[in-house]
Amino acid sequence: MGMFDYVHFEMACPNCGKPLGDFQSKDDYCTMDKIEPDNLSEFYSSCHTCKLWIEFKRPEPETRPLRPKPLTREEVEAMGFVLSVTPYPVAESTAATPKDHP
Ligand SMILES: [Zn+2]
Repeated sequence: MGMFDYVHFEMACPNCGKPLGDFQSKDDYCTMDKIEPDNLSEFYSSCHTCKLWIEFKRPEPETRPLRPKPLTREEVEAMGFVLSVTPYPVAESTAATPKDHP
C-alpha cells in the first residue's frame, strides 16, 4: 500500500534547467508503481534547488459535455475498447457447486 504512484516522465526544471525525474501522481492506484501519464489528470514533482512545485494538470475527461448522439460500436472500438461477451454473472448463492467444496 502506498500514497501515490511514480510517473514515467522527466523534464528540465522550467526555472533552473535541473533534470527532474521524481514525478508522482495520486490519480491511479497509489501502489508506488511506475505508471505512464496517458490517463492521468495531474502529476507533479518539485525542484529542491528552486523550491518550486512543478505540476501538470488537465481537465478530467468526465467533464466533457455529452455528444449530441451516442458513439457507435465502431467508434468506441476505434478508441481502443475491446468488446467482450461473457455469460451473465450467476448470483452468489447459486454459484457454488458441490465440487467447489470437496
Ligand atoms: Zn529548478
